[in-house]
Amino acid sequence: MSGSPAVVIRLVASAYTVAEKAGEIVRKVLHRGDLGIVEKEGANDLQTLADRLAQRSICTSLSRRFPKITIIGEEELPAEEVSEDLIENGQAEEILQKVCPVEYCGVKEEELVVWVDPVDGTKEYTEGLLDNVTVLIGIAYAGRAIAGVVNQPFYNYQLGPGAHLGRTMWGMLGLGAFGFQLQEVPDDKRIVTTSRSHSNKLVTDCVSAMEPHEVIRVGGAGNKIIQLIEGKASAYVFASPGTKKWDTCAPEVLLHCVGGKLTDMHNNPYRYDANVKRMNSGGVLATLRNHEYYISRVPQSALQALKSD
Ligand code: AMP
Ligand code: MG
Ligand code: MG
Repeated sequence: MSGSPAVVIRLVASAYTVAEKAGEIVRKVLHRGDLGIVEKEGANDLQTLADRLAQRSICTSLSRRFPKITIIGEEELPAEEVSEDLIENGQAEEILQKVCPVEYCGVKEEELVVWVDPVDGTKEYTEGLLDNVTVLIGIAYAGRAIAGVVNQPFYNYQLGPGAHLGRTMWGMLGLGAFGFQLQEVPDDKRIVTTSRSHSNKLVTDCVSAMEPHEVIRVGGAGNKIIQLIEGKASAYVFASPGTKKWDTCAPEVLLHCVGGKLTDMHNNPYRYDANVKRMNSGGVLATLRNHEYYISRVPQSALQALKSD
């Protein structure tokens, strides 16, 4: 193929390298010791120095290279000069080599929206549950999540000193998902994964209604989607508002690329246009297979309490 790769391919190639840099920042802040914790809306909604630095790094790096793209980050940060050592200019060569799916070849910079969660699973980060943490960069076009990068900064940390830490997964509709080995929970076993730090009665009632053989409670939306695609869980069930568009945009692309589905509890997909509500008010139901089963089990109480966007 001749000429420069399509904008969206260049954006994903940049997002890949930028997410790796953000992962490195998240590791460095932890090793330095002082996390600089700020409570946003109470003790279960935290921001650390890692969230702040990683978001500045991601958003500034991407907006310098792609000035017309709308970039929406989770953290509200005051405008200030960004230190040059936070800027990442690299692009993943492996992604630049990919042939852009025809439906996205002509997409213009100004038509793309990027949703950034600089640290997903911040609560768990502050508690040392490090494999729950991910950096999420989701890319939307025409309201749909079409590409996503998920970096897991502490992947392999249980292996102890000397282990190579971190990995990056990415996916794009029409190209596939890369950076992990797809595995599935056997069809006759229902393992439900849900929140460990943002649960409530609606959430636990809905989990029970699924008649799970096992329930796992872990942090992070990104982390729970990784569990689905790596054969650790069959469904991510969260019948509550709480997650936002930056939590679901990137992970849902990985899931969609391997045949899975992410919807609210009414079975409606989320849209990711720049002007949508940030909150995923209808909850999250994500599965690799058998979505209809889980939808059919959602209790009336949850359906009444949760509105679709
Ligand atoms: P969890 O499964 O509890 O780790 O939540 C997944 C993502 O949604 C994380 O980014 C959380 O911060 C966010 N989240 C979920 N519920 C809430 C809530 N009640 N308040 C603030 N953030 C939430
Ligand atoms: Mg998050
Ligand atoms: Mg976050």
